[in-house]
Amino acid sequence: RSKDAGGGVFHAYEPQLHLRAEERRVLEMALRGALEKNQLHLAYQPVVNAGTGTLTGFEALLRWTHPELGSISPGKFIPLAEEARLIAPIGEWVLRTACEEAASWNNQVRIAVNVSAEQLHNPGYVAIVANALASSGLRADRLELEVTESVFMREGTGATQTLEKLLDLGIRLSLDDFGTGYSSLGYLSRTRFSSIKIDRSFVQGASKGVKEALAIIRAVVALAQSLGMATTAEGVETEDEHRLVQLLGCNKVQGFYFGRPLPVEEARALATDRAAESRAA
Ligand code: C2E
Ligand code: MG
Ligand code: MG
Ligand code: MG
Repeated sequence: RSKDAGGGVFHAYEPQLHLRAEERRVLEMALRGALEKNQLHLAYQPVVNAGTGTLTGFEALLRWTHPELGSISPGKFIPLAEEARLIAPIGEWVLRTACEEAASWNNQVRIAVNVSAEQLHNPGYVAIVANALASSGLRADRLELEVTESVFMREGTGATQTLEKLLDLGIRLSLDDFGTGYSSLGYLSRTRFSSIKIDRSFVQGASKGVKEALAIIRAVVALAQSLGMATTAEGVETEDEHRLVQLLGCNKVQGFYFGRPLPVEEARALATDRAAESRAA
C-alpha cells in the first residue's frame, strides 16, 4: 500500500495523505536498520499489587531512538513494523533482551513482553520462546506474554494452538487492552490467561464518572473472577484512580502514578529493593 502512495499518485488531490505516505516510507526505511544499528532499547514499567503496593513485575516496552529523527513512539512504529513484516525480528530481539536483562533480577519479579498477532501466526514462535528462556536462564513462570484480542480475529491461523503450546512451556499469558478490540468472548474459555489487562480508556472514563466505563470494569472484574483470572488496571495516573480500581476489585495496577517506564538499571534497582523488602518481612 505504501509503495503505491509513495509513487505520488495522491499528490495532486491529497497532499496530506501523500505526506503521511512519505513519512511512512522514511520511517520504514529507518526502521529496517534500527536493529543492527543498536537504536532499540527496552524501558521497564512497574506493575504493582493493587492492595499492598508491592512490586510484582515489569512490562517491557520497546523504545526506538533514531540519530536524526529522535525518539519515535511505539504507537507509530509498531504498526509500521507489523505492516512491513519487520515485527518478527524486532519482536524476537525484544523477547531475548527482556529475558536476558531480567534473568539476573530478584527471581520473584515477573517480566511481561508484548507480542503482536503476526508473531503468533508463525508456528516457529514457540521454539523462539523456548530458546529465549533456555539461553537466558529465565525461569519460565517469570515470563508473561501479553497478547491482544486481535490474535483471535483471524480464524484457522492456529493461534489458539500456539498459545496452548506456549502455556505448556510454563509461561503465563495476559490479555492486553481488553475491551478495545472486536472479538467474541468465546476464546476466554478456551485459553488460560493469568490476567486480563483493563485498558486505560476505561480507567480514565470511570474516574471521570462515565457510567458505562464503570459498568465495563465491574463486568470484566466479575468475569475474570469467575474464570479464575486476575485483573490489571492499566494507565492509573492518580491516587483517585488507584482507589477506584482497587475498590472495583482489580488485583494489579500499572501507570504513571506508580512509575513511568524506567531504564534497565533503575528497574534492576527497584527489583533488588523488592528482594530486600521480602527478606525483611
Ligand atoms: P501497551 O502494551 O498497552 O502498553 C502500555 C502503554 O501505556 C505504554 O505506552 C505505556 O508507556 C503507557 N502508559 C503506562 N502507564 C500510563 C499512564 O499512566 N498514562 C498514560 N498516558 N500512558 C501510560 P508505549 O510504551 O508508548 O507503548 C504503546 C503500545 O505499543 C503498547 O501498549 C504496545 O501495544 C505497543 N508496544 C510497546 N512495546 C512493544 C513491543 O515490544 N512489542 C509489541 N508488539 N508491541 C509493543
Ligand atoms: Mg502491554
Ligand atoms: Mg496494555
Ligand atoms: Mg493499553
